[in-house]
Amino acid sequence: MIDRGVALLDARRRALLEAMGIVIWEDRRTPAAEGPGAMPAPLAGDTATVDDVALLDWAALEQRVAGCAACALHRARSRTVFGVGNHAARLLVVGEAPGAEEDRRGEPFVGRAGQLLNAMLAAIGLPREQVYIANIVKCRPPGNRDPLPAEAAACSDYLARQIALVRPCAILAVGRIAAQNLLGVDTPIGRLRGRPHRYGPDALPVIVTYHPAYLLRSPDEKRKVWTDLLVAKDLLDAETKP
Ligand code: SF4
Repeated sequence: MIDRGVALLDARRRALLEAMGIVIWEDRRTPAAEGPGAMPAPLAGDTATVDDVALLDWAALEQRVAGCAACALHRARSRTVFGVGNHAARLLVVGEAPGAEEDRRGEPFVGRAGQLLNAMLAAIGLPREQVYIANIVKCRPPGNRDPLPAEAAACSDYLARQIALVRPCAILAVGRIAAQNLLGVDTPIGRLRGRPHRYGPDALPVIVTYHPAYLLRSPDEKRKVWTDLLVAKDLLDAETKP
């Protein structure tokens, strides 16, 4: 099954995938008009400017994100949290959203959860500097709530472009929000773990595991995360960079 990142495929490739019986997830950036996932009504200054994101280079992409007002999360942020790491990384880590410390420092996965993520990566021989780390949304949700589906959708082109620029061998999605939004599914994280998924035009392998912040609250789950990390390591050992 291929996720909604394939939505940018050209018509010919899309037709080939459909002929092979591969499900193509559709772009869900259009917000629902109402309901729990609805985006708050835009204020003056909110703009939807992500249409040409797929064409941007690193510098232009970071600049675009820094000035983005495509969803309501821009109103309360101190700064955007773009992403950090090796632009040629073999592993790309996707998290959920900036927290308070990330919002203050402008970098994803800092603080205790970040330290645990670093330890998780080191356990499979990957220093933090060797991977690329980004979140589903680039602005901190108020009160550290989950990003709304419409907010995640509004931000999705930025992450898709980061993944396209890095072209990793594999993606590690940490936490339910990251996994569900990346794969375009509502499946519980416990059922997403344990098997590789696929993302985007290159059908990049995606491994799902628990968020380090959850592990800090539930250390008994570390054994499962270790299993997931070993799957990721095996994938990285087997995959060549696309
Ligand atoms: Fe823009 Fe993403 Fe921030 Fe929303 S969360 S304002 S889409 S950068």
